[in-house]
Amino acid sequence: MSQTESEVSSWDRQDATVGATSADVLYNKCLALAHNLWWTWHPEVINLFRDLDPIRWRQLDHNPIALLREFTPERLVSRASEMVLFSRINHAFRRLKEYMSTVPTWSATHTGVLGARPVAYFSAEFGIHESIPIYSGGLGVLSGDHIKSASGLGVPLVAIGLFYDQGYFKQHLDASGYQREEYLDTKVGNLPMRQAVSADGEPLTVSITTRVGTLLAKVWLMQVGRVKLYLLDCDVDGNTPQDRELTARLYGGDERTRIRQELVLGVGGVRALRALGITPGVYHLNEGHSAFATLEVIRQRMEDDGLPFDEALRETAHHTVFTTHTPVPAGHDRFHSALIEEHLGPLRDGLRISQDQLMGLGRVEPQNGSEPFCMTVLALKLSRRANAVSALHGQVSRRMWAHLWPWRVEEEIPIGHITNGVHTPSWLAWQMMQLYDRHFPPGWFEHMGESEAWQHTYDIDPGELWETHNTLKSLLLSFVRRRVSRQCRRRGESDEAVEAARNVLDQDALTIGFARRFATYKRADLIFRDLERLAKLLNDPDRPMQLVFAGKAHPQDEPGKNLIRRIAHLQSDPRFYNRLVFVEDYDINVCRHLVQGVDVWLNNPRRPLEASGTSGQKVVLNGGLNLSVLDGWWAEAYDGRNGFAIGRGASHVSDDITDARDAAGLYETLEEQVIPTFYDRDVDGLPRRWVQMMMNSITSLAWRFSAHRMVMDYTLASYLPAAGGLSCDMSIK
Ligand SMILES: *Cc1c(COP(=O)(O)O)cnc(C)c1O
Repeated sequence: MSQTESEVSSWDRQDATVGATSADVLYNKCLALAHNLWWTWHPEVINLFRDLDPIRWRQLDHNPIALLREFTPERLVSRASEMVLFSRINHAFRRLKEYMSTVPTWSATHTGVLGARPVAYFSAEFGIHESIPIYSGGLGVLSGDHIKSASGLGVPLVAIGLFYDQGYFKQHLDASGYQREEYLDTKVGNLPMRQAVSADGEPLTVSITTRVGTLLAKVWLMQVGRVKLYLLDCDVDGNTPQDRELTARLYGGDERTRIRQELVLGVGGVRALRALGITPGVYHLNEGHSAFATLEVIRQRMEDDGLPFDEALRETAHHTVFTTHTPVPAGHDRFHSALIEEHLGPLRDGLRISQDQLMGLGRVEPQNGSEPFCMTVLALKLSRRANAVSALHGQVSRRMWAHLWPWRVEEEIPIGHITNGVHTPSWLAWQMMQLYDRHFPPGWFEHMGESEAWQHTYDIDPGELWETHNTLKSLLLSFVRRRVSRQCRRRGESDEAVEAARNVLDQDALTIGFARRFATYKRADLIFRDLERLAKLLNDPDRPMQLVFAGKAHPQDEPGKNLIRRIAHLQSDPRFYNRLVFVEDYDINVCRHLVQGVDVWLNNPRRPLEASGTSGQKVVLNGGLNLSVLDGWWAEAYDGRNGFAIGRGASHVSDDITDARDAAGLYETLEEQVIPTFYDRDVDGLPRRWVQMMMNSITSLAWRFSAHRMVMDYTLASYLPAAGGLSCDMSIK
């Protein structure tokens, strides 16, 4: 990145442009907007970038920096006058400046002690926007939403992650419906980041010595509203060619790649914070990937304060909180002793403990020589408090880890729960926000994590709510048609097929969305268990239904890829023609379109394997209804009048029987509840009972399952006790 760019990327250095032409000033304001990811949740700024060149905007994956590179300041001015953009640019720039100049926030009155010593939030992925491909799915989007809400609430927090220059793969289906993966190099210069500088003003590089050499990582800084996100990147001079690629891809490669990535994230992350002059009061490990961080914190305490290992460990645990996301034992990272010694040996020397002692920290039974080192066990042992991500997942996690505390009864296992939520402004459609703005009290947006404002949903005219939903549905259909016809063209299908794809689906049919990772436990094919019964529902002449699918399978997950192929094939089955589509390359952009436009969001994992799930929460904000197994967040959200349940929350010991039962439950709910309610219209064609359910869903769920509520819970129940060192823990709900 050039010097001028990094200067304008810091909005508060705008005065440095005194003497520049007015075209330069305008251009720099746009660049400053593009360099703070605050823009990603402000529709008026997004629209501003789009209006500069709508076609290129789409082609460039909604990346404003890439777009601005195609403009000279002079061309920007002429485009701005054509489109009357001057006042919009100035207004947006002023709002960003105000936002950054610490106006009173929730945090100002709630988080005193964190001011001096912020929360350090570690996560292996961050899903902030589709143009920044450093996430793969749910975990990343959750981290992104967490830091956006921390920004909104003003919670003092810095985030640490990895920079993957190829990120996660782009998905295409070949002519046989089989998933193909493509990795693209991200142009670093097109991303809103610059190299972080250390406390003494030098570009920052951290190093980690292993038994087999030293790993280096440089550190990027991204500004996400008020939150700074630091990303470590191993593509630096001084690393071996192999190590330069260590952080190229998310979850690529073998065990060795994984432990090295996790070493960089955890140990490298803590070293980067120190070099930046940041002393965290709380370490939040979002999932076990970053748990090595605790070992480096212990080492620093021993070195700085002369503490013996045991005492430094207790102190570290005192300031550490851990969120677990995985309800199956196999989903947790485990490493063998030799790999641990190879990578953590030198750090262990600094801790003055034996290899056995170190291994013991990652084992359920410390003395069991055959037990590998588990990152989750390390995180559980080295945190004061752990939490799962929904009430049900809390129960499952306590049971799963009960053997770590064999002297305690299950309810006393120190794993609580804080249910996940979504960042409302990032997922709420602009049209829906306008509607809320007209009916909610002024300033409601500052209180989106509280229930009061949302009660005004009932003041909205049902016809108006329905109409707004249908506008969003038609935008979804245009998006799907554009994508599906492009997919046909890429696969070399006939002109007729491409043309037919441009008209696929029906605006008035009940539209069901299903989009998620194609892991087998999510059972994407559950609805296809009885093809005849489904075909009848889809093709009912008076009450038709249609299905939109999307989702990626992990590159090594053959069963997941087979599921995708099966659904791709069914698209051309005459019984499903025009009633079933698969949209390729699921990402934040595809997700946003889907959750904003569907009538119903289908979720049918095998209970209790879905820790929380968040996509259904995004649907709520936009007036869609959930149809879901009582798992994850839905198990505590469903109240009988705010959506639909599949089954009664039971599961059989045999998966086959569970699946058969759940499929029957799904068809029943569709036939007896969903379809009749949707098509029950009054004289004006308005589905009154349906709209009532939309309102019930919004009022009862939008605030509870918002990331603002989630971050407030973390702050009050986890961060403050950990930072203040209060002796009595506030227990997590
Ligand atoms: C929200 C989101 C997810 C998480 O949704 P689930 O309900 O957990 O499936 C995954 N991927 C993307 C791209 C998302 O936006």
